[in-house]
Amino acid sequence: MNRDTLLQLVKEYGSPLYVYDTNVIESQYKSMTDAFTTVKRLQINYAVKAMSNINILKFFKKLKSGLDTVSIQEVRLGLQAGFDPKDVIFTPNGVSFEEIEMVAKMGVQINIDNLSILELFGQRYPKIPVCIRINPHIMAGGNSKISVGHIDSKFGISIYQVPHIKRIVDNTGMLINGVHMHTGSDILDIDTFLRATEILFDTAEQFDNLDFIDFGSGFKVPYRPGDKATNIKELGQKLSKRFNEFCKDYGKELTLRFEPGKFLVSESGYFLTSVNVIKQTTSTVFAGVDSGFNHFVRPMMYNSYHHIENLSNPGVKERYYSVVGYICEADTFASNRRIEEITEDDVLCFHNAGAYCFSMASNYNSRYKPAEVMLVKDKPYLIRERETFGDILKNQELDLDF
Ligand SMILES: *Cc1c(COP(=O)(O)O)cnc(C)c1O
Repeated sequence: MNRDTLLQLVKEYGSPLYVYDTNVIESQYKSMTDAFTTVKRLQINYAVKAMSNINILKFFKKLKSGLDTVSIQEVRLGLQAGFDPKDVIFTPNGVSFEEIEMVAKMGVQINIDNLSILELFGQRYPKIPVCIRINPHIMAGGNSKISVGHIDSKFGISIYQVPHIKRIVDNTGMLINGVHMHTGSDILDIDTFLRATEILFDTAEQFDNLDFIDFGSGFKVPYRPGDKATNIKELGQKLSKRFNEFCKDYGKELTLRFEPGKFLVSESGYFLTSVNVIKQTTSTVFAGVDSGFNHFVRPMMYNSYHHIENLSNPGVKERYYSVVGYICEADTFASNRRIEEITEDDVLCFHNAGAYCFSMASNYNSRYKPAEVMLVKDKPYLIRERETFGDILKNQELDLDF
């Protein structure tokens, strides 16, 4: 992304600012579909929680993507964006039965990851087909904060409980039309991922009425310079072949589904902040920006690395900085990072700001959430206005007399 374009956007829309380049989203989407061209029926369901602005959802609709949702509110956003309920899957964890019921009645595919819910749903709605989320107990990648496939994870129904699932299905006469897994984020080792898919195929074999197999997500994208991404082409070649063989044995052309979030949007996003202060202490030079973990929590919550670039001072020599926020808590974006020399009012750009950034933002310290801009064919659209003081007061009782 061109520095001058980003600087111009900050001038126009203010700081801090999220910018999403839909060219990147489109090419990531295409690289997934290109990797699976030999599979007859492929459906990519974008995971809404990664970045949920309704205009981004509309862009995914244009790409012919479906949606993966985890709350009834995400489902409603999707329907409001114009999605057919048939192109939405609901994969909740720990939500109430009433919420699942309501989403099912909207015509959305339900994915159940709990035996007691499965049984209750089967008793009440034996005619509504459901997908089951399996836990294959394979750590596909990442650290324990982002891996959800291990033995004591709260997600999915253990493969050791498949006999129990079958008993529920037989007793209720319910219909299982899909099997699903999602083993966590940051898959690098394709063979490990493929081992998990074998377990899913073993499970799939045991159900006679499937329409699809959903392999979840967890695809990795580069964050640091020199980082590797999941080799989607290699995965596509290997999994497509295996999937087509499976369909032949199964006797039916099933749909292969994925539900990526990070892979599709992470690299499309730029978070732009302005430097409020430079503070030299005895050991460190701090660059303090007009944001904090209220807007951008990944470095503090997951220890994630986000590349930081000084847009205002290109080509000058690099120095070591700790980049910190303005929240009254430790909110360190980066420690001892080499960045082109920073002076006050410079604009710093955080890369990979598309996934799990704005969608995790809060109003902590009573700060406004940033504005969001989307670039479509390089043309900027303001897709969310910066909040105002009215938003901070919203829903608070203002006239209480005590
Ligand atoms: C979060 C989530 C995803 C997306 O994961 P990424 O790592 O962003 O690709 C997909 N499926 C489910 C069920 C999820 O909870």
